[in-house]
Amino acid sequence: MTVKFWGTRGTRMVTGNAFRRYGRKTICCAVRCGDRIVVLDAGSGIVPLGSELQKSETRSLDLFLTHAHYDHVEGIPFFQPFYEKSFRIRIWAGPLKGIETTRDIVDGLMKEPYFPIRQEKFRAHIRYRDLGDEAVVELGDGIVVRTIKLHHPGGALGYRIDFEGRSFALITDTTHAPGQRDTALLKFLNGVDAFAYDCSYRDSEFAQFASFGHSTWEEALRLKQACGADSVYGLHHMPDRSDKALDAIADWLAAEDGGAFIARDGMEIALDCGRR
Ligand SMILES: [Zn+2]
Ligand SMILES: [Zn+2]
Repeated sequence: MTVKFWGTRGTRMVTGNAFRRYGRKTICCAVRCGDRIVVLDAGSGIVPLGSELQKSETRSLDLFLTHAHYDHVEGIPFFQPFYEKSFRIRIWAGPLKGIETTRDIVDGLMKEPYFPIRQEKFRAHIRYRDLGDEAVVELGDGIVVRTIKLHHPGGALGYRIDFEGRSFALITDTTHAPGQRDTALLKFLNGVDAFAYDCSYRDSEFAQFASFGHSTWEEALRLKQACGADSVYGLHHMPDRSDKALDAIADWLAAEDGGAFIARDGMEIALDCGRR
């Protein structure tokens, strides 16, 4: 199992040299399980993934959406495999505030006046699948995807993927209650090798953003220690968190926990033989 982070920025894309090293694109990561691929979220990071898939032999994939905020879906209209007849794609999501079905999420993005092309113009073979809060989905070839309801305005799902004894989870966007253990999340993360977590803030910044539905670097470490995962990757970087600011967090992380890392655009990890 390998995981590649294609987009790690939260809230919105950023530009400029101050953000060159950690990443400018919004959330997307691709989990390879043997020759299958499971894509988590469709922020702008999914656009270069689409270009790579077009050049590869992969023609079938599953795309799971955590929720429909722009930084998690804005790449959908520009994901070129949707426009190629040779691709078979299943899109999965859970119910959200005011939106019950996965098809409706995509429909909401693909219509005038927001975008000139409707989803009916997709040429790929597309199937829409709706998920519950505690779903267990067998994708075949030994790949199992589980969901958990997260704490985020409008709703969001966390995902856990298990394959051949390895396990990775994406937990974004979500918040936490300071000083309280999220027993449901700890149970969900029990036995994962690695997870990526919503690290929008530092604990010191949390109070001013407490209602925004995001979490902290320190909470990521507390969760990692409580669930026993080998590693945690912080993502959903705040738009104004520059490379320099993230370097300072990297130094602090390295001193606190050798298994805690900052996810950056283009980073690839192999869950059976450590970080690449
Ligand atoms: Zn977000
Ligand atoms: Zn969100």
